Amino acid sequence: MSDETRIFQNSVRQFIEAELVPNHARWSERGYPDASAWLKAGQVGLLLPDVPEKYGGGGGTFAYEAVIIEELARSGVHFGFNIQSIVAHYILAYGSEEQKLRWLPRMAAGELVGAVGLTEPNSGSDLQGTRTTAQKDGEHYVINGSKTFITNGWQAGLVCLAVRTDPRLSGPRALSLLVIETKDLPGYRVGQPLEKVGRHAQDTCELFFDGVRVPAGNLLGPSEGRGLFQMMDQFRYERLSIGLSAVAAAERAIEITIAYVKDRKAFGKPLLDLQNTRFKLAECRTEAHVGRVFVDNCIQQFINGQFDAVTAAMVKYWLTDSQCRIVEECVQLHGGYGYMQESAIARLWTDSRVQRIYGGANEVLKEVIGSSL
Ligand SMILES: Cc1cc2nc3c(=O)[nH]c(=O)nc-3n(C[C@H](O)[C@H](O)[C@H](O)COP(=O)(O)OP(=O)(O)OC[C@H]3O[C@@H](n4cnc5c(N)ncnc54)[C@H](O)[C@@H]3O)c2cc1C
Repeated sequence: MSDETRIFQNSVRQFIEAELVPNHARWSERGYPDASAWLKAGQVGLLLPDVPEKYGGGGGTFAYEAVIIEELARSGVHFGFNIQSIVAHYILAYGSEEQKLRWLPRMAAGELVGAVGLTEPNSGSDLQGTRTTAQKDGEHYVINGSKTFITNGWQAGLVCLAVRTDPRLSGPRALSLLVIETKDLPGYRVGQPLEKVGRHAQDTCELFFDGVRVPAGNLLGPSEGRGLFQMMDQFRYERLSIGLSAVAAAERAIEITIAYVKDRKAFGKPLLDLQNTRFKLAECRTEAHVGRVFVDNCIQQFINGQFDAVTAAMVKYWLTDSQCRIVEECVQLHGGYGYMQESAIARLWTDSRVQRIYGGANEVLKEVIGSSL
């Protein structure tokens, strides 16, 4: 943290408290946020904080993105800012100057909501199993297939889509990334937000492509066949973001639980006076602290341009496992109240579980680490 990021943190916190927290229950019931929230976030500079100013972003480092991830986790609010940034970084890394100027300023303003479309009904971990095809037809690609579990899908105006551009190839060079502008696009359809066990305010949808035509110029990168390599590279950003959100959520769980066990009495004294409670929370605090030091180190490496794919796998796998261990202990210390919908710790429990699954299932990430040994 620097003076500048602290000032930014204040404005992020104020925005979350004024604009997101009061609406969160309503969005949770409905399954997606208001489009106006995206525009308001854009107006106050919360979108694309680590994208250069010439493309409408905040011009900061990943430290600014980190502030937003932490503040959201601390408030227990789920909103797709980080996915917006992930899409922007695909465009920033592989887009032409014309593509960057076309899409990034509108994303920074919240006019275009971004989504990443990789997972399909029959292929999640195994991206090489991607079946959605994009066949060249003159100056266009024609897309057929479907995607599932796509965060921000309901409002996405821009989808960074993994497609099979060469049906004859089976290896990694068969895949490419295409950017799809979805507004009024014939053949494009979004399913109703899926009913998840947690994170209800954040939409997760199926996307369908039936003969969708997009300009060939929407390909990311200079040629076809680079999609898998581009994804592998950008996963570093996503995995660091998830790891950070995991630590922040674990810290929040511990704070909530400390307050609870100081207040709740059993056998004539606060739960905190029981040695087991103190030992469990001591273990949680220590583990969260180790996680915090690790993630801070990773953020610094990322800012220095030295963050590799193996460390990214470590930070995502270990910190999300740690988050689930900590939250699980915290639920136990709440007793029956920890199982009630309205309790903050119960929501943290259901919201946490998916962290070990998306962004690369933790088992897949252990393979990434293992293959480097
Ligand atoms: C709430 C939510 C939001 C999501 N958001 C997005 C999004 O925005 N965009 C997007 O593209 N996708 C998104 N996903 C999809 C997510 O990335 C996938 O669910 C995830 O990659 C796992 O793929 P899968 O579900 O097909 O599981 P599978 O690939 O079928 O794997 C099932 C399980 O098998 C095990 N496994 C798989 N491969 C291996 C291996 N090599 N070694 C050992 N064990 C293995 C793991 O335990 C894994 O959890 C989201 C999912 C959820 C639930």
